[in-house]
Amino acid sequence: TRRVFSGIQPTGVPHLGNYLGALRQWKRFHDQSTDPNLVLDYEPQQFFSIVDLHSLTGDVSPQDRLRLRKESFASLLAMGLHNTAETTVFFQSDVWCHAELMWILSTFASTGYLSRMTQWKSKLNLPESANLDSDEATAKLKLGLFSYPVLQAADILLYRASLVPVGEDQLQHIEFTRSLARSFNSYVQRAGSGAVFRIPWPVLSPAKRIMSLKRPTQKMSKSDPDPKSRILITDSKEDIYAKVKGAITDSEPGISFDPERRPGVSNLIEILKHVTESNQPSLFIARDLENVSMRAFKEKVAEEIVKALDGIRDNFLELMQPDNSRLHDEVFQGGWKARDKAKSTLQDVKRSLGLQTLA
Ligand code: ATP
Ligand code: MG
Repeated sequence: TRRVFSGIQPTGVPHLGNYLGALRQWKRFHDQSTDPNLVLDYEPQQFFSIVDLHSLTGDVSPQDRLRLRKESFASLLAMGLHNTAETTVFFQSDVWCHAELMWILSTFASTGYLSRMTQWKSKLNLPESANLDSDEATAKLKLGLFSYPVLQAADILLYRASLVPVGEDQLQHIEFTRSLARSFNSYVQRAGSGAVFRIPWPVLSPAKRIMSLKRPTQKMSKSDPDPKSRILITDSKEDIYAKVKGAITDSEPGISFDPERRPGVSNLIEILKHVTESNQPSLFIARDLENVSMRAFKEKVAEEIVKALDGIRDNFLELMQPDNSRLHDEVFQGGWKARDKAKSTLQDVKRSLGLQTLA
């Protein structure tokens, strides 16, 4: 069997980086498994989660959180993902097993390893060299943000995923998951049980890291305070044109690909490459546009983004109508299916540790 798990935080409507780096891959797995013309020699299963327990590590009011969770779920449905025999789309907080497995895994997780991860540092705007020796770091660092990768490991391992489609920034968390799963397996194997967890592999899309439109040396991010730094998959045509037009570039004449010297222009070339699903190297794409003006280049990029996201906005607006029951039905179905799968893994975990119910 090919089993896929991946998650996205409900910190906002997904942006073009999420879409090109991760969500489009999710959609491909989903489409493959529902294509009647495709005969697969394995049973595909995919689990896609809005990881709302993870997003508790960010600073959001409960009212905003409720709205963002709904918008995030609707965004996945608007892209064409939905519950089928092979696909499960669900809220992480609808499955209590995630938190329970996280506790169990945290008794295996090394704090030294966690302290070397970069995500907690970037979320707290600390330098990569930051460590737990500084009072500045530990005063700001909540236990949940520090142990975020342990919850992520629980997410992946609960569904016995073999493949995890993510953007580049998540690779270190997948490596951490692999190492945690191996330690757990060898512990229970020494006690005579079989291996409980499957060791997962990350799947990177060709668009590993899309950069911010306003600060092109940083990745495009939902939690960036500047909404003009990202294109949402539900943006209108007008918004997309305006955001691309306002993207930071430079005053050098002509178009060329040079991420070091021209990060803004190079990011737009990368975006163009990935929205058009071109197999050409970025250098070649840039060469064809060598003598094009910045204005015409940006219009071309905006036009292709609009094409790639066509239909998502309309679907989203329809799903968000108060009288539309589709969202509610999908949430209910997804939660039910995910719990079913997760419970059975958690039972195996507990049994392997000697935690089975005593009759
Ligand atoms: P946040 O700022 O709240 O962390 P985010 O934009 O980083 O939001 P996540 O929910 O953390 O989004 O990540 C969802 C998926 O999107 C992950 O697989 C992540 O690797 C991928 N991803 C996020 N940003 C980018 C990007 N700029 N380019 C490519 N992939 C990305
Ligand atoms: Mg992130």
